[in-house]
Amino acid sequence: MAWEGIEGHDAIAERFVAAEANGRVAGAYLFVGPPGVGKGAFALALGRSLTCQAPQPGLVACGRCGSCVQAQAGSHPDIDVVRKPDERSTIPIDLLIGDTAHRMREGLCWRILLRPSVGERKVAVIMDADHLDEAANCLLKTLEEPPLGAVIILVGTSIERQLPTIRSRCQLIRFAPLPAEKVRLVLERESHAADSPVDAATLDACSRAAGGSLSRARLLLDPEITAFRGRLLELLSRHPLHGVDLARELIAFVDAAGKEAPPRRARLRIVLESALEVFRAAATGAVGRATGDPELARAAQAWTANVDAALAAVDGTLDALGYVDRNAHISVVIDAWTAILEEPRLARLS
Ligand SMILES: [Zn+2]
Repeated sequence: MAWEGIEGHDAIAERFVAAEANGRVAGAYLFVGPPGVGKGAFALALGRSLTCQAPQPGLVACGRCGSCVQAQAGSHPDIDVVRKPDERSTIPIDLLIGDTAHRMREGLCWRILLRPSVGERKVAVIMDADHLDEAANCLLKTLEEPPLGAVIILVGTSIERQLPTIRSRCQLIRFAPLPAEKVRLVLERESHAADSPVDAATLDACSRAAGGSLSRARLLLDPEITAFRGRLLELLSRHPLHGVDLARELIAFVDAAGKEAPPRRARLRIVLESALEVFRAAATGAVGRATGDPELARAAQAWTANVDAALAAVDGTLDALGYVDRNAHISVVIDAWTAILEEPRLARLS
């Protein structure tokens, strides 16, 4: 499989190759899987492959035709990408059906109805589909009857976060976390391309600690972030856990990212996701499988004495991640989360 920049999802790519060969590419897909495993990149690569005017065997985009050149530049008239604006907590309806003055005369649902400009296909990708909320209703009719040759791809993190009305109209494709060696491969390639080679030990450590997520691995290349992850795992392996201490250190860590919201949220998210791995490993008795990452295994071990506490911590952490996604106030999330962690730990000790 040679889809440029795509690693670790060969079986899914093969499904699309077979579907295209049999003329059975569906009109609507729902991609789900953990953040940072390459679902969005895969959707864009699929868009390039499906619109390429001279695809090579294996549905590999030729990279040279007019369509490929426009797609690579992000200016292909038949590849439409919509995502949640950073400052918003949901995808605005306007992006799908136009603003109030131009209802159904603008937006993704209107553009998909237009004839393709280049070939036979139109591809629409809706990133951040977890945050469709009321915009979901605008999509139903389009998903129900996509125009001939149109492929609409929704990219979300889990099936549970999509409305049943959306789920039932899309073919589901599940993406798994990437194996650590694939994460390492991509990190190494990117570090060479950026002309800032990363040493082998850092590549190893970051790809092991990334939990199969490329976006997390890229963040972990920042030594400050890796150091705090280590500190977090240390704090989580102590008992009793001091929620107030953890909150104070966590706020300082987030504040060090500056005033802009996206990097602050990214820091909090990586902390919550790392903690989630600890609690999940403890709750499912999968500590042994975490041995590739001894620090994580040690923290998880400390929670295995009380599976209920670990489960409560999983729930509390998932809630906290949901609030981060909805742009809740960061210090409020941190206070609530660290307080929740103290409670199950007390329950364990009693
Ligand atoms: Zn091409």
